[in-house]
Amino acid sequence: MTREKQPILKVAVAVPLSRAFDYLPPEGSQAPQPGCRVRVPFGSRQAVGLIVDRATESDLAADRVRRCSAVLDERPLLGPDELELIRFTSDYYHHPVGEVVSTALPALLRKGKGLHPLVEMLVATDAAAATDIEGLARRAPKQAELLETVCDAGGNGIEANELTELLPNWRRTAKSLLEKGLLERADARAPDFDETIAPAATPGPELNDDQEAALATLRQHDGFGVCLLDGVTGSGKTEVYLRRMQDVIASDRQVLVLVPEIGLTPQIVARLRKRLGIEPALLHSGLGDAQRLAAWRAARAGAARLVVGTRSAIFTPLANPGLIIVDEEHDHSFKQQEGLRYSARDLAIVRAKLLDVPVVLGTATPTLEMLHHCASGNYVHARLPRRAGGAQPPSLRLVDTLRAPATDGISEPLAAAIKRHLGEGGQVLLFLNRRGFAPTLICATCGHVAECARCDSRLTVHAGQRRLLCHHCGYGRDLTDRCSECGETVKPLGEGTERLEEALRQRFPGRRVTRIDSDSTREQGAMLDALQQAKEGEAEILVGTQMLSKGHHFPHLSLVGVINADQGLFGTDFRSGERLAQSIVQVAGRAGRGSRAGEVLIQTAYPDNPFWATLIQGGYERVAAEAMAEREATRWPPYTRLALLRSAAHRREDAHALLEVARRALADRSDPTLRVLGPVDAPMARRAGRYRAQLLLQAGDRRALHAALRDLRPTLEQDRAARKVRWSIDVDPIELF
Ligand code: ADP
Ligand code: ZN
Repeated sequence: MTREKQPILKVAVAVPLSRAFDYLPPEGSQAPQPGCRVRVPFGSRQAVGLIVDRATESDLAADRVRRCSAVLDERPLLGPDELELIRFTSDYYHHPVGEVVSTALPALLRKGKGLHPLVEMLVATDAAAATDIEGLARRAPKQAELLETVCDAGGNGIEANELTELLPNWRRTAKSLLEKGLLERADARAPDFDETIAPAATPGPELNDDQEAALATLRQHDGFGVCLLDGVTGSGKTEVYLRRMQDVIASDRQVLVLVPEIGLTPQIVARLRKRLGIEPALLHSGLGDAQRLAAWRAARAGAARLVVGTRSAIFTPLANPGLIIVDEEHDHSFKQQEGLRYSARDLAIVRAKLLDVPVVLGTATPTLEMLHHCASGNYVHARLPRRAGGAQPPSLRLVDTLRAPATDGISEPLAAAIKRHLGEGGQVLLFLNRRGFAPTLICATCGHVAECARCDSRLTVHAGQRRLLCHHCGYGRDLTDRCSECGETVKPLGEGTERLEEALRQRFPGRRVTRIDSDSTREQGAMLDALQQAKEGEAEILVGTQMLSKGHHFPHLSLVGVINADQGLFGTDFRSGERLAQSIVQVAGRAGRGSRAGEVLIQTAYPDNPFWATLIQGGYERVAAEAMAEREATRWPPYTRLALLRSAAHRREDAHALLEVARRALADRSDPTLRVLGPVDAPMARRAGRYRAQLLLQAGDRRALHAALRDLRPTLEQDRAARKVRWSIDVDPIELF
């Protein structure tokens, strides 16, 4: 009697090799389905892997195929559509499938835990409720802080993992609280997600005619279709999505909403919850592992009809998908810039197609890629040209900083405008995309500039921490008043948000100034507090980086000052114009969203640069149209497709050597549509002690590019030069460095 032949399981394991590995099912067990996890012997260790496919034959000799040691899931965690998305992602980005699976699965599942794992929790006891926290705070402030945090989490307690995020050294502090019986440890399941805990839905405003028309356009698709919802800031895009979401949710299907960043999530999440009257399942990196898994489970089971998350949420399984929304389509945080370099926005479109559901991309500043698809008729273009509810568009004006020089970043015309707006009870936002006190520290005597020892970059002065920090590698050293070369006095040159904040406090004494950047909001909850203050108008002057320019709605804000726009005017990247226009239009869009008219002042030393006339007279639309014509003439995306091959090594020659291998391999292809540029040093040639080089591939059509990359990857994986090098493939790169 012959034994029935067992299927070969194609298992994705999180290792940097581009293929799946062949295994047999465990002895005596039935063959598990694709989408189930298995534990497998891998080299000399055990690894968790995901079955992505099954086959009847293996390329390996029969006696070399090993058996799985265990099957971890009775039923598949991921369905065929989700597996297809994983395979697609691996193929399209030419990235190891095991690492795609790692991005797609929540951490606990990746580690082999069950769908309902027990996790370590910290719970406050009844005795804790009776404790005099203020008294404790005087004697032992850290203990009080910990106790308060745990009490605030409620009766079920808080996950140990989440605590570690909030209070990194909590374990030491917890000791005496545990001994005193104020805290208890427990192994528990994180509570299941419950969408009904949200308060009842509140109705929104009646839609205006433009919004009705856009909504009708969105409703054209019930199956797959891409709609770009292109509306000026404050035009009521969110209201339009909300109506479309209501349709879908009412028919018991799920909506997946992708948002750019966690800083943005609180406002949008609060709004969705309030208007739809259901609790969204949230997926972002600020959550505890068990909490995140609970949200993922609820999405997978269909218990959450509204799923909101950042980038990697695009991989969340959905029991009953009905609609995908990408809010702020142009935002760069949708593109992961390391490891698996994917665009969640682009994958949203792929996924919508696989699921046969509509996808809506919203923005006031659409990328040229999306506009190009609209122009060629692939995507539908819905426009909201006016602000909703009678708010006026902000007026833009230039301040020539050669005629009116700025002191500590502020010119006299800007200072006068700030004074006027504050006097009229308005709120002011100053935008400067540079954190720290000053970008340069220079010696007044010998001219020596403090530089990072590991990067080709200057150290930024952080006056508050009294540190000199490298923003590229994290290197830091103490700030001293004396030059390290000649011992004379040093001085900070140029301005960052910290200096601007200080200057504003001096110029406008008694006014409340709030700075919002990644330094000021490092502490948990600081961002939320600052935004709340800003929103309620409690902060009179806001100073911030990019963080503050996105998506927020500050009803009292009437003046926006752009401190230094010139960095973007002479960018080397073909996207710099598009990007500068996006950032100015987005930050300008914060002004005048309430009843007060908005004014925007832009400080520039190049007021005659034609970019400004185009932007001020024609708005983003005109800038985009001109950039589009230029891209067509010069053959840059969206008229061509790019992939960037990067390499970094301790020696410059090594970084270049691997790219030379790639260049030669590509030169052997008889493909006239493929252009290979480089290898060249990266714009910042040395970073974190490594020399960096790059090779750019440009192709007229996508297929040629992908065929070349497919052949190239194994060549690179096997080449000897690769051993000394960190290399990566970036398909559709958004940064060319
Ligand atoms: P966007 O998403 O385009 O920036 P929002 O949807 O946030 O715009 O709307 C901007 C502001 O206008 C919000 O305060 C919103 O409540 C209000 N709004 C939106 N649509 C209308 C409408 N049809 N009538 C009155 N107010 C509206
Ligand atoms: Zn550095």
